[in-house]
Amino acid sequence: MFLTISTTGTPEHPATDLGYLLHKHPDKAQAFSTSSGTAHVLYPEADVRRCTAALMLEVDAVALVRKSKGKGRGAPDAALAQYVNDRPYAASSLLAVALSSVFSSAMKGVCHARPELPGQARPLRVEVPALPARGGPDLVRRLFEPLGWEVTADPVPLDTEFPEWGASRYARLALDSTALTLAEALRHLYVLFPVLDDAKHYWVAPDEIDKLLRAGEGWLPGHPEQRLITHRYLSRRRSLTRQATERLELVRLAEADDSEVEAIDNAVEAIDGEAEAIDNAVEAETGTEDKPAPLAVQRRDAILAALKRSGAARVLDLGCGQGQLVQALLKDPAFTEIVGVDVSMRALTIASRRLKLDRMGERQASRVTLLQGSLAYTDRRLKGYDAAVLSEVVEHLDLPRLPALEYAVFGSARPRTVLVTTPNVEYNVRWESLPAGHVRHGDHRFEWTRAEFRTWAGAVAERHGYTVAFEPVGPDDPEVGPPTQMAVFTLTSPKEAKAA
Ligand code: SAH
Repeated sequence: MFLTISTTGTPEHPATDLGYLLHKHPDKAQAFSTSSGTAHVLYPEADVRRCTAALMLEVDAVALVRKSKGKGRGAPDAALAQYVNDRPYAASSLLAVALSSVFSSAMKGVCHARPELPGQARPLRVEVPALPARGGPDLVRRLFEPLGWEVTADPVPLDTEFPEWGASRYARLALDSTALTLAEALRHLYVLFPVLDDAKHYWVAPDEIDKLLRAGEGWLPGHPEQRLITHRYLSRRRSLTRQATERLELVRLAEADDSEVEAIDNAVEAIDGEAEAIDNAVEAETGTEDKPAPLAVQRRDAILAALKRSGAARVLDLGCGQGQLVQALLKDPAFTEIVGVDVSMRALTIASRRLKLDRMGERQASRVTLLQGSLAYTDRRLKGYDAAVLSEVVEHLDLPRLPALEYAVFGSARPRTVLVTTPNVEYNVRWESLPAGHVRHGDHRFEWTRAEFRTWAGAVAERHGYTVAFEPVGPDDPEVGPPTQMAVFTLTSPKEAKAA
């Protein structure tokens, strides 16, 4: 089996730097003994402009069978298949293992001679003449494209003499990228070759999950095909897949948390600041002496009233922030179970302090749970509740992530009632300190007009079998509407969930 890695260069950044990165001199052909046979490394071309390293693995089929003796099967054709198979020719887990043993420093991104090189992205082309592609060229693309590769995967005909026989399960693969470092590229190959091969191994080493997480660092958590990759890499062992998935989820949440901790600080500050500014604006406009309740309080009251009308007892507060609404819900015994969910561990810590969870009586404490989780992913823990509240949350998600939240809430969790509040951008002109065209706070990824909100909410309701009604929160200005808009969704078809 065979693989080439090529790069291009200039006199200042010669392509032959590839030799340093791989720790293999371009002028030499070298051979290494690996667990599955002899690996040869040679350079078919090596000059300033273009340099190609080839890795050729000569698989020792007989030795492989001997190694797996006792783990194989007894049937005669299975025994024959042990000797006559595609192992010597097709890129597979064996090639992955050879890659990692021959290019181990390169994979780790270590280069003592030229320490600046490994961190630099460079033009790379990887070619594999025979890639077993279970799942077809389409899967090959779904695996590599999200990582920044341009993918060419042409099916290899079963027999060129007999085109009517159709395509084999192998593909000729070419990957091109200018955005990746060599170490990243090697780590992609190391994980994805065995995934595409999808051969069943009877034996999975105990540290296989560690190897996967190490090689997958920085790209596997959050990969759209993360589940498939993990499942196949771990030879479809369910318990291992579950363990790996849980660990990947922790990594992803930790990363999300870092970036979102800041967001939440800003978000909560924004809500307070916004409420105050709007209160001032309202006061200036109406000139009243007796101050209306702050907007944040009006919003909470509107939410509580809508929840009471719906008859909900078990309530989710999604994006609960520092727990003000959870606290208000706890005061009303009609709400028997209250779950606050937020992506930010930090917000949850503050919420738990505000609620004095550690000093609460047992009865009271049994009514409230705080969960860390991202609303951009479906979460089984959120199923089966009467109502969910998204108070001033949707505008904190990037628009492209909104469909994921929509599916997690309306498609998967599917409570009978969903309340969504969000700023009405039209009202911003009434807010004197806000320059025209600006959102209320830097962490708001968008702010909607009443029409935009209605369009989104209407489409969501339609897609998931809900009806929706709208309510103003705060003074309803005849021209620009209220400062906060609220949608009340009610489930009409509990069973059927249309795909998002
Ligand atoms: N609901 C509260 C807080 C709103 S601030 C209130 O009305 O006062 C927005 C909250 O959404 C923040 O706490 C933020 O951490 C949370 N959030 C943002 N993106 C999230 C996501 N993807 N998953 C879960 N929570 C998220």
